[in-house]
Amino acid sequence: MKEINSSEFDKEVLQGGKVILDFYSTECPPCEALASKFEDLSKLYGDDIRFLKIFRQGNRELAEKLEVKSSPTLLFFENSKEVADRLSGGIKKSEIIERLDSMLPAGRIKSIRSKIKPTQSEFDVIILGAGPGGLTAGLYLCQSKINTVLIDISLPGGHVSTTHEVSNYPGFIEPQPGYLLSHNMSEQTKLCGTVYKVAVDITKVDLIRKEVVIDEFETVKAKKIIIATGTSPNLTGAPGEKELKGKGISYCATCDAKYYNDKEVVVIGGGNSAVEESEYITRFASKLTMVHQFDKLTANKQAQEKAIKNPKISILFENEPRSFTREGDKIVTEIEDLKTGYRQKLVSDGVFIFIGFKPNLGLIKDNLELDKWGYIKTDDDMRTSIPGVYAVGDVISKKYRQITTAVADGTIAAMAIGKELD
Ligand SMILES: Cc1cc2nc3c(=O)[nH]c(=O)nc-3n(C[C@H](O)[C@H](O)[C@H](O)COP(=O)(O)OP(=O)(O)OC[C@H]3O[C@@H](n4cnc5c(N)ncnc54)[C@H](O)[C@@H]3O)c2cc1C
Repeated sequence: MKEINSSEFDKEVLQGGKVILDFYSTECPPCEALASKFEDLSKLYGDDIRFLKIFRQGNRELAEKLEVKSSPTLLFFENSKEVADRLSGGIKKSEIIERLDSMLPAGRIKSIRSKIKPTQSEFDVIILGAGPGGLTAGLYLCQSKINTVLIDISLPGGHVSTTHEVSNYPGFIEPQPGYLLSHNMSEQTKLCGTVYKVAVDITKVDLIRKEVVIDEFETVKAKKIIIATGTSPNLTGAPGEKELKGKGISYCATCDAKYYNDKEVVVIGGGNSAVEESEYITRFASKLTMVHQFDKLTANKQAQEKAIKNPKISILFENEPRSFTREGDKIVTEIEDLKTGYRQKLVSDGVFIFIGFKPNLGLIKDNLELDKWGYIKTDDDMRTSIPGVYAVGDVISKKYRQITTAVADGTIAAMAIGKELD
């Protein structure tokens, strides 16, 4: 694995051979989560494919020339030509493997795979998801001397790690940077002795047998499972969104706002996340147009007041996006006025989408009782419909999704499990 800069790009990437290139940034949790996967894979594939990293902030001109619009972005080259689709955002190890394999002959893939040995480990409790809910459960279980493993597809911290500022978590007089709050929560749990298996792919979850397979070859077993997998951002579903995701459309202000210095952006949404993240984006952007489907903002009053006073923010109420297209360097967002049907085009340098969330249940939901919106139903002790399986935080059916409520759920589940295991 090697770090390069733009002056070395031609020599290192375009000279021929097979190359995977990682454009990363600082203060970018998905970039940090990718780093360990990238390093692991370089050990497996490094004899056949060169693994290169390049710092996007320090090599902006090259990033722009290559149309890299999101951090991290992985590019694949063979004989100086880009091959395979780019990957960006929260990148799975399996997605990278799929692309690397497509660059190699079958025999070579088989020999690389044969180097991986299956493993198995046993714990009292598996916690799936290391956001505030999972981390708190991990802390309480660990302090009760219950052998616990935290498994996360990303790095610990959950949504808090990508929130620029948290002002309502008790115990801090001043607002806390989200990354710092989540770092402290994670270090506290780790220091206690909870085992971490993070930035992994989840291959299989068997809630009945209490077994989780990660990265295809590692089986983790336990007596109890806590699901703390939180939520993911909703997509608008408008044409062009999927194609431009990571190429001008972003869902993470802390990752990407810094690349919009003196540029114009569009934000879709008008709830807490949209309004608070817009405030942050305007530290960089010169102009921000918010597009909201309702006739007033739905964020908390304090955030609304700040946004309305912010001279860089203008709001188009009762409008929805109908399509996203790229025109040269610009993203064109076509919006429709919901009252009149009038359509107009907003031309900007980038688009951020914050329109609510959906529960992260992918591989997990089989046989779990869910509410009509797809969130897990639990009892007062956070038990789900499957014996020995608990759920906490944003992924459960409840009215208020906040750090404090996730932390409270994690506490309750851990204490209930402690009693059961006694
Ligand atoms: C932009 C933004 C700003 C916010 N600001 C505030 C605020 O100021 N104050 C406040 O109180 N709340 C705020 N919230 C809400 C708060 O962040 C959440 O309520 C809280 O993080 C929920 O914690 P959680 O542990 O349930 O889930 P999350 O924080 O979502 O963490 C879930 C974890 O599970 C992992 N995961 C996902 N799928 C899997 C899987 N299949 N297997 C294993 N792991 C998985 C994820 O990688 C993640 O680390 C904000 C949310 C957002 C999005």
